[in-house]
This record gives sequence, C-alpha cells and structure tokens, in this order.
Amino acid sequence: MARTALRRRLTWQTAAVTSVTRETASVVTIQLDPPAWPGHRAGQHLDVRLTAEDGYTAEREYSIASAPGEPPAITVERLEGGEVSPYLTGELRAGDELELRGPVGGYFVWEPGDGGPLMLLAGGSGIVPLRSILRHRHRTGSDVPARLLYSSRTLPDAIYRDELGQRHDGVQVSYTLTRGQPPGWTGHTGRINQALLAEVAWPAKARPLAYICGPTSFVETAAAALVGLGYPPEQVKTERFGATGGH
Ligand SMILES: Cc1cc2nc3c(=O)[nH]c(=O)nc-3n(C[C@H](O)[C@H](O)[C@H](O)COP(=O)(O)OP(=O)(O)OC[C@H]3O[C@@H](n4cnc5c(N)ncnc54)[C@H](O)[C@@H]3O)c2cc1C
Repeated sequence: MARTALRRRLTWQTAAVTSVTRETASVVTIQLDPPAWPGHRAGQHLDVRLTAEDGYTAEREYSIASAPGEPPAITVERLEGGEVSPYLTGELRAGDELELRGPVGGYFVWEPGDGGPLMLLAGGSGIVPLRSILRHRHRTGSDVPARLLYSSRTLPDAIYRDELGQRHDGVQVSYTLTRGQPPGWTGHTGRINQALLAEVAWPAKARPLAYICGPTSFVETAAAALVGLGYPPEQVKTERFGATGGH
C-alpha cells in the first residue's frame, strides 16, 4: 500500500460538491470532487465533518454510493431533528465545499474475485453500499449471480429505483414494502424475517456471500434469519447505520 494513499485516507480534505441530485422526498445524492482521492472499493464509506461558525464540529460516516473508478458520491437520508443530515439534504448546493476523509473500511467490501452468489439485503438507506457493489459488478463485467432484497417503507421511499429496475443478466431485485403498498402491488410486504428469506434468498448450499446494511435492528434481524437458514456467520457481512430506523 502506497504510504501517500494511506495518508490521504486519514487526512481531512475539502471537496467541491459537483452536484446534488434528489432521489426521493427525503434523500439526495451528493457528487464530490476531492482534490486527492486515492480511489475506493465497493462497500467502503467516508467521513464528513461540518464545522459551525463557533468552531463546533460534527462528524458522520456515509457509505460511498458510486463504484470504484467513479468519482466519490454519497447518498444521504434526512433524519428529522438530526444535526448533519438535514444540512446535507436541505441546504448543501452544487458549488459548495464539504470536508471529508476517506475512504474508510476494509471489511464490508466486495471484489468480483471474492465470488458469490451474492445475497444483498438492504433496509432504507442501507441500499447505498450495496448499490456500489452492484455498479462495480456491472462495470467489471462480472457474471457473479446476485439477488437483492430491498426493504423500504413505501415504493416512493425506495432509493435508486430506476437504476435498480434496469435489467442485468444474473441480477434479481425484489422489494418488501413495510408501511404501505401501491394498488395492485404483488411484491412482498412487511419486515424481513426468516420465512421471507427462505423464499427469496439463495439456499445456504449455494454457498452465498451475504451483505446486509441498514438500521441496526434491521441488520440484526436479517443476519440472524440468514444464519437460521444455515448461512455460516463468517459468510454474512453486516454494516450498521445506527439507531433503530423504521424499516
Ligand atoms: C458506516 C456507516 C455508514 C453510513 N452510511 C449512511 C448512508 O449512506 N446514508 C445515510 O443517510 N446515513 C448513513 N449513515 C448514518 C449517518 O452516519 C448518520 O448517523 C445519519 O445521517 C444521522 O445523522 P444526523 O446528524 O442527521 O442525526 P443525529 O443528530 O446523529 O441523530 C438524530 C436522531 O436520529 C437518530 N439516528 C441517528 N442515526 C440514525 C439512523 N441511521 N437511522 C435512524 N435514526 C438515526 C438518533 O438516535 C437521534 O435520535 C451511516 C452510518 C454508518 C455508521
């Protein structure tokens, strides 16, 4: 590992915000142009630091939404009453600057050479690093089969819906809607549990690699369910975004 790359990851730098794109009513994607980005792996995150005029600082972690080789981007969900996410989703504009540090994390990552099949489980904004993994799969021409089960409150709350709706050989995307379903909805409903995963997930005998990301309670329930279906715990990688969330 080049020493300069390591130093860049650990050093705060000021990135230009190149675009802010609305994804859903409460979610935006922020495209960033840091002066010294060493590149990232699919599934990693970065740290964001906001500094108030009186010098008070707040740091938060955000998964990197883009694929390796693409400029870093983050996708942020607004949490009412939060310190950082209302600013990022409501006030930040293209042309502004944002302090960041990264990429961070070497565990919740996937490379085509890691194989599969991939079992991806997302709760709410937990889709963000999984989107990076899927984009990486497409961009590298990987044919590792992948299934994504995305738990969202409602369909309009689901992030990247157009992108996830594009057909890619070997990728199967399904949703479970926990709070409300559109008329005629024939997909899954309710929270992820073992019965739903028994229907949707790869069987354990396929030796899948599982990646689960979302609010802490979602991740714990989903991981326990996969292990209950026979997935070896070391094949189940988890990333907890914090709090309990509503997914
Ligand atoms: C590794 C990692 C990656 C993350 N990636 C993303 C991402 O890609 N997109 C994204 O939107 N967020 C992500 N998060 C969550 C993010 O770091 C912040 O916690 C979130 O934006 C809330 O910050 P805030 O300052 O607005 O709220 P805070 O001021 O920290 O908290 C406000 C209130 O919301 C609750 N709360 C805090 N975090 C959450 C949460 N995640 N879900 C529900 N309630 C919460 C708190 O308990 C508190 O009551 C990630 C977290 C981790 C650890």
